Amino acid sequence: MTEIARSQTSEAHGIGAPLWLLAELTYRCPLQCAYCSNPLDFAAYRDELTTGEWIDIMRQARAMGAVQLGFSGGEPLVRRDLETLVGEARRLGFYTNLITSALGLDEARIMALREAGLDHIQISLQAGDADMAAAVAGSPKAHAKKLAMARAVKAAGYPMVLNVVLHRHNIDDLDAIIALCDSLGADAVELANCQMYGWAQLNREGLLPSREQLEVAEATTARWRERLAAKGRDMRLLFVVPDYYAERPKACMGGWGAIFMTVAPDGAVLPCHSARMLPMSFPNVRERRLREIWYDSEPFNRYRGDAWMRSPCRDCDERKRDFGGCRCQAYLLTGDPAATDPVCEYSPHHGLIEAAREAASTDPRRVEQLTPRSVHESQVFCRQ
Ligand code: SF4
Ligand code: SF4
Repeated sequence: MTEIARSQTSEAHGIGAPLWLLAELTYRCPLQCAYCSNPLDFAAYRDELTTGEWIDIMRQARAMGAVQLGFSGGEPLVRRDLETLVGEARRLGFYTNLITSALGLDEARIMALREAGLDHIQISLQAGDADMAAAVAGSPKAHAKKLAMARAVKAAGYPMVLNVVLHRHNIDDLDAIIALCDSLGADAVELANCQMYGWAQLNREGLLPSREQLEVAEATTARWRERLAAKGRDMRLLFVVPDYYAERPKACMGGWGAIFMTVAPDGAVLPCHSARMLPMSFPNVRERRLREIWYDSEPFNRYRGDAWMRSPCRDCDERKRDFGGCRCQAYLLTGDPAATDPVCEYSPHHGLIEAAREAASTDPRRVEQLTPRSVHESQVFCRQ
């Protein structure tokens, strides 16, 4: 059977099109966040896709029906062809989002990206003050640069969307963090509690907040929502609860191979940006067409639907809502990617979550003592 004929057969069997394409343009990044979700062995993937290969990927994804395109990394601004890729994405009709640390941005580049047709920019902040930001990101100058670029993005006519990863070392400063975002004129702020993948999993006990910290942070967010509403200020605050304190697992990626497709810097095609650490081999767009990978490859079909589920998910009414949770989290915690996500209270492994929270409560490390996401540290994992 030809590739197209096979794919048409799969489409006829009810697999929807990928709506989201996440283009991880590079694993290079000037910062060293100890919670980075990039793979531990990112230094092994140096053979980045070329401009022409990315354009071909975008054309294939758009032809399949993808409408949302995120440029991320690493730091996507490291790629000097970003404006070219944005321009092609606009011509193809994608809605585009740049997910960036703002390192590598300046006013000229903001204008160039705007002229190329970029729809949206999201800038990450590490903290509310320069000292903590420097300790988290491993750069004393990054914080001031981010603030300047956040203002420049707003001045260029973009909505200002800020993302702050929260963890035990900065969550107590949430009041100051939100005040900073307000003073910058942010339109939306994602207060994203650290999720435990990649480098965050490695540093997990040094990052997990306590339940008390989390409750105070939620109350602070609620107070700020009231304060903002009272003064007629339209700044949306999105508070993302960490999985380790959630009551039920998240509906990860809207389901495995359901709507979301990531292409990694070297061309590996993944159902989510964390999935390449799973014990399975993912297809590469340098060897197979995206359509064939999405509809027909074994990795993309392995956890689709619910036929693969075991007890307790198999018999649970929630399975079509949360899809049994996150396959990466299941593997990281139990060694079995088909297990129920241990975040779920029905999981026989749920005690692992409680044990991690307990271990975190006695971890004495300061943020500077966590393992930084660096090329040097990554090379250690490449050798393992
Ligand atoms: S989390 Fe930090 S180190 Fe990782 S890509 Fe983003 S800015 Fe770079
Ligand atoms: S048992 Fe499975 S399907 Fe049911 S709530 Fe838990 S993770 Fe979701």
